[in-house]
Amino acid sequence: MSSRLPENVDPRRLANQGTAYSGTVDLSQLDRLCEALKETSGTAQFSVEFYRDNRKRARIKGQVKATLVLECQRCLGSLIYPVDAELDLAVIRVPEEADTLPESCDPVWVEEDSLRLLDLVEDELILAIPHVPRHEEDACDVSWKSPDEEVQAEQENDLSGKPNPFAVLAGFKSEK
Ligand SMILES: [Zn+2]
Repeated sequence: MSSRLPENVDPRRLANQGTAYSGTVDLSQLDRLCEALKETSGTAQFSVEFYRDNRKRARIKGQVKATLVLECQRCLGSLIYPVDAELDLAVIRVPEEADTLPESCDPVWVEEDSLRLLDLVEDELILAIPHVPRHEEDACDVSWKSPDEEVQAEQENDLSGKPNPFAVLAGFKSEK
C-alpha cells in the first residue's frame, strides 16, 4: 500500500503494476457529493487496488466507507447514513466496451490515461445515496403521510360516498 496519494493516475499502467492505494478524504473536498449532503463535515475512508483480470481488462476493486448526513425528505431533519460500499470497476476506453463486461462490475470510462482517484470515491458515495432519503417511519420527527399514502386515503374516502370508478369501468366492459 502506498501512503502518498496522487491526484490523477493512469489506471491501465497501475493495473499492469498491481498498485493499491488507501487513504482518507474530507467529505468537504467532494463538491458533487456535498450538494447531496446536509452536513459536509466528516471523512471517507477508502482503499483501491488496480489489477488485470483473466481477460486482461484493467480492473479496480476496493472499498469506500463514510458516515453521511443526509436530509430526510419527510421531516427535513438530519439522517445519519452509513455507507460501506464495495467497488468493482472495469476501465473502458470506448462506451461500447461497457456491453462486454460481466454484470457484477461497473464501467469507468477513461478515454485518455488519466483518472482522478478521488472521483472514484466520490462517485461511489453518490451512488450509495438513496434517491429520496427518509427516516424509518418510527424514527421520523414528523409523521407526514407520503404522497402515495395521501392518494390512497383520498381513494378510500371516495369509496365511502361516490361510486367506485372501477366498478363503472367494469360496467362499460360488460356492455360490449
Ligand atoms: Zn425524518
